[in-house]
Amino acid sequence: MNFEAAKQRSLELKEQLDKWNYEYYVNDAPSVSDQKYDRVMQELIAIEQQYSELITIDSPTQRVSGQVSEKFNKYVHNTPMLSLGNAFNYDDLIHFDEQIKEATGLSEVEYTCELKIDGLSISLVYENNLLVVGATRGDGTTGEDVTVNIKKIKSIPLRIEQKDLVVRGEVYLSQEEFNKINDERIKLGEATFANPRNAAAGTLRQLDSAIVAKRNLNAFLYYYVNALEDGMQTQYEALKQLEHLKFKTNPEYRYCRNVAAVWEYIQEYEPKRHKLGYEIDGIVVKVNNLNLYNRIGYTAKNPKWAIAYKFPAEVVITKLLDIFPSVGRTGRITYNAVLEPVRIAGTVVRAATLHNADFIIARDIRIGDDVQIKKAGDIIPEVINYVAERRRKGTKKWQEATHCPECRTLLERVTGEVDQYCINSVCPKKITRGLEHYCSRNAMNIEGVSEKIIERLYKLGYLKSFSDLYKLDQYHAEIIQLENFGDKSFENMIVSINNSKQNSLERLLFGLGIRHVGQKTAKLLARQFKTMTELAAMSVEQLSVINDVGPIVAASVVDYFAIVANQQEIALLQERDVNMKYLVTNQTLSQKFENYRFVITGVLSKPREYFKDLIENYGGQVSDSVSAKTTYLLAGSDAGSKLVKAQKLNVKIINEKEFNNLITEEK
Ligand code: NAD
Repeated sequence: MNFEAAKQRSLELKEQLDKWNYEYYVNDAPSVSDQKYDRVMQELIAIEQQYSELITIDSPTQRVSGQVSEKFNKYVHNTPMLSLGNAFNYDDLIHFDEQIKEATGLSEVEYTCELKIDGLSISLVYENNLLVVGATRGDGTTGEDVTVNIKKIKSIPLRIEQKDLVVRGEVYLSQEEFNKINDERIKLGEATFANPRNAAAGTLRQLDSAIVAKRNLNAFLYYYVNALEDGMQTQYEALKQLEHLKFKTNPEYRYCRNVAAVWEYIQEYEPKRHKLGYEIDGIVVKVNNLNLYNRIGYTAKNPKWAIAYKFPAEVVITKLLDIFPSVGRTGRITYNAVLEPVRIAGTVVRAATLHNADFIIARDIRIGDDVQIKKAGDIIPEVINYVAERRRKGTKKWQEATHCPECRTLLERVTGEVDQYCINSVCPKKITRGLEHYCSRNAMNIEGVSEKIIERLYKLGYLKSFSDLYKLDQYHAEIIQLENFGDKSFENMIVSINNSKQNSLERLLFGLGIRHVGQKTAKLLARQFKTMTELAAMSVEQLSVINDVGPIVAASVVDYFAIVANQQEIALLQERDVNMKYLVTNQTLSQKFENYRFVITGVLSKPREYFKDLIENYGGQVSDSVSAKTTYLLAGSDAGSKLVKAQKLNVKIINEKEFNNLITEEK
């Protein structure tokens, strides 16, 4: 891949991962499988390895991805809560072992293996023998203070026989509790949780602790933060000490005398994983000797002395009963499989995606075939292929849809793309899906306008375009008559719609659903052009000169503004007082370097105070000495020992020009 293509692709991948991180960590409602997430992450890592200049500080490869909800008080962790590097196969594991050997000079390394519990990590702080704080990981530096909810977990001791302690572990829900919660939610007509991990995260991050008390959350503790200082020499001993202090540890952990023993452990547990009564998504392999940790070191995101071996997705076979197309907001057609119900990774699956027509045709998948389905704690299961040896007689070659399943318009293919599209701009499904997107949290953030409500209001003719949202109040009398729609919900909806008028331009740009303009590109365009009018007047050439906006995106923006219907819609939005300007808030200014620690060294073009002020104005910190916690070393000429130390600790080193780029580039 050449540099330009890599740059464009890395931008797309970062945007994709940011979106998925938000859904996963903030909403506790992922929309893609962990495997898909991991695949995309690996692709980004590979690109960044090839072109290191594409690594930005905000890249999902460089930081712990969680976020902190405004709902809770923040808690700053004394020691960061890091993520783990991943291994997906035997070779990755061996590579990890070799790196440890290289860093320590040992010919054989001892490990402790533990199950990787699929829950969410927590940190417990005990002072004067009492539990004083329970916090989520958040972004690794700052988490959410969920002490009240943590105290509802019966296996977590509120008092311990030790004065001070910080201990970390995983809050999880057993499979049985998870099924119980979902059964209840189905009865109440509420959306079910995708998997036990999301249910546990959604529960612990609940404001109503009475609900937390009702759901039997549990916790395994696995990390004694100051174990070495408190006299333990190995992770194995630290786990024993936690048990001694009456914490619940996972009983399956094992000392492994070398990497071969680790591999045996992994192979032993992979088939057992669905029989444990709680979900695990892999095995965590930790160097046993705590004395080696500092020598082996850390990246900003992971300790280098541990790795998470991720199990491959589980695959099952079932019968394909039917295939039907559906249309999305861009008009893209997706094909869906109706399946004979089958149990996989703890849940019953009845439907799966078949992606696009080419996917089905290339594999010659037919209705009536036995197909392989993949799902592992995933959200949307996927059909992988059909099982050739089990093909039944009389199955017929599948034919792709020729017309839109919603409006019957003839489908079209865009050159260079595999997908079919409904190009009817007034296709009802495209409109309602587009409205859903416009109202979504990352776009105009309008609450109280769900998919169902949009479809109802659309059918009644009250809501056919984005601008219609801003005159819904004229249907007050009609709407409050609708089933499940009282005065209060109407009022809340209108308040939220009106609030959205004050959004900064990037939210509107993203909400409009311009092809190829994701959240990040929208921000970039808004920041650069400041107003909708200015942006709409740009040519492909003018847009293409912006860093990170490639020719495809530029052409798509120009095409969008050339369409008269779009121009009219924007004019209507403006008439209804929707803000069309980029708003620089203090928050945008101050957040850019949040959680980043800089060290400044060498001779720069301006006094150090200038750079220090700038970093602090953007929410960053400046320290005097380089440590594993340093995010960047800003190095001028004649840099000395700090530079050497940063190189040794693998801290990213930037010059003044790169620093200026950080300031101007997208966060
Ligand atoms: P991770 O889940 O790969 O590993 C780190 C975490 O493992 C730790 O923070 C800890 O909570 C947990 N853990 C469980 N048992 C442990 C043990 N015995 N010892 C130590 N740690 C243990 O990393 P992550 O940063 O928490 O999450 C990233 C992963 O989450 C991705 O690889 C992906 O699988 C998933 N994810 C999915 C989506 C999605 O949309 N599907 C989005 C974001 C993340």
